[in-house]
Amino acid sequence: MTVKKHFYLTTPIYYVNDVPHIGHAYTTLACDVLARYKRARGFEVSFLTGTDEHGQKVEKAAHAKGETPLELADRVVKRFQSLWEKLNVSHTDFIRTSQERHKLAVQEIFRRIEAKGDIYLGEYEDWYCTPCETYWTETNLLDGNCPDCGRPTEKLKEASYFFRMSKFQNQLLEHIEANPDFIQPKTRRNEILSFVREGLRDLSISRTTFSWGIPVPGNDQHIIYVWFDALTNYISALGFPNEDGDFADFWPCDVHVIGKDILRFHTVYWPTFLLAAGLPLPKSVFAHGWWTVEGQKMSKSLANVVEPNMLVDKYGVDAIRYFLLREVPFGLDGDFSHNALVHRINSDLANDLGNLVSRSTAMLSKYFNGSLPTPGELEEIDCDLRDKFVRQIDVVDAQMEALAFNKALQSIWELVSAANKYIDESAPWTLAKDPAQQQRLGTVLYNLLEGIRLIGLLVTPFMPDTGASIGSILGLGPEDQLLEEHDSWGLLKPGSTVAKAAPLFPRIETE
Ligand SMILES: [Zn+2]
Repeated sequence: MTVKKHFYLTTPIYYVNDVPHIGHAYTTLACDVLARYKRARGFEVSFLTGTDEHGQKVEKAAHAKGETPLELADRVVKRFQSLWEKLNVSHTDFIRTSQERHKLAVQEIFRRIEAKGDIYLGEYEDWYCTPCETYWTETNLLDGNCPDCGRPTEKLKEASYFFRMSKFQNQLLEHIEANPDFIQPKTRRNEILSFVREGLRDLSISRTTFSWGIPVPGNDQHIIYVWFDALTNYISALGFPNEDGDFADFWPCDVHVIGKDILRFHTVYWPTFLLAAGLPLPKSVFAHGWWTVEGQKMSKSLANVVEPNMLVDKYGVDAIRYFLLREVPFGLDGDFSHNALVHRINSDLANDLGNLVSRSTAMLSKYFNGSLPTPGELEEIDCDLRDKFVRQIDVVDAQMEALAFNKALQSIWELVSAANKYIDESAPWTLAKDPAQQQRLGTVLYNLLEGIRLIGLLVTPFMPDTGASIGSILGLGPEDQLLEEHDSWGLLKPGSTVAKAAPLFPRIETE
């Protein structure tokens, strides 16, 4: 029996009262593509997403609506759950911080750190931004307002438990320095290195000003600070404090994928909590950039928040998945524009990929009645095509390992272009006119369909429905579509029946 390789990746848990927008969709889809790719490479994947449900903001919003905080959370969590379903997201677990399994984990990690003497009771006073649930020091404020959201802050003083984060400064620094891939991309790593070098302060990790949260073990006047609570989701979903089973199989996490706005929480707070609790650190944290819309920052007041449900209804799920991962290098900021989206759909999907599949299958249907011929001897042009595919599959693999999704798609599209060029150069319609060229025609069409098979396998993590369509056109079963076992050239069986493909992507008409 072979032991399966394990891979664990997470999205951040999203704030339950937010309305899901393109930024949430982007993070989650990037994780989904990676999860699907790893599965195709034979890994057993644990893919976690979920919602962050505690805190003063949810409590206030619920009271304003005459609901309990849990009633509100139960109602609005569906917005995320239904969107992930619509976007074909293949997460294996959905954690909600209001769940009992999560509470047990948070209280346990708190107890462990406290038992080691690294949590103490003190008094906290600083400038507090209620919407952000964050304390700011005087020097952080911008004209007295919150530097993150620009809203007014108020001076608050309360008894609070503190985490001795300062004690772990050097240990964290050493870890970041010894593990170049721990924080990615590199610019983010440098940002955190200089932040940590400036010195870490102890962190207030409890509040007494609201009650919707997880109580401090042994002192339920105090609610555990939202970030201490939220970050623990990554291990509570694995069954921690039970350290057998999923926790043993999947922790430490391979990658936490996050937006760059929550980098510090994931690369300073979370690792120091884990160090203090004596638990291994995640292998890497990857922070991606932000989306602007038609060149402008997304904001509710500009009414330009892109609603993912609407995009999927209008353009189809695979087109949206493709666009978001293709348009921008993962890690940098990107711009969402309808023109760019329509251009990608028409040019890359309808034209390049769609036409390749439809004209190849149409020729096979016309010249061989849809039955795949046995290839004859390979000519140089055939060998070039085959070799390019074989090489490029390794290139794509390295790019996927580096989470360079846009580069991987570019590489796959080089194969699409190569196959289209192969059609033009080998001119099957001319070969078809000469009965003496029948075997040559068969070889060309076999090679084309074989290329399409591999392209289908490679696009599947990005566009699962399209990959499945290509597979069914070629008559492949699910057992034939596992990339790890089927990424070599020449696996299509001569004599098998190939269906004539309907257009995979209709062109979008523009004015
Ligand atoms: Zn704020």
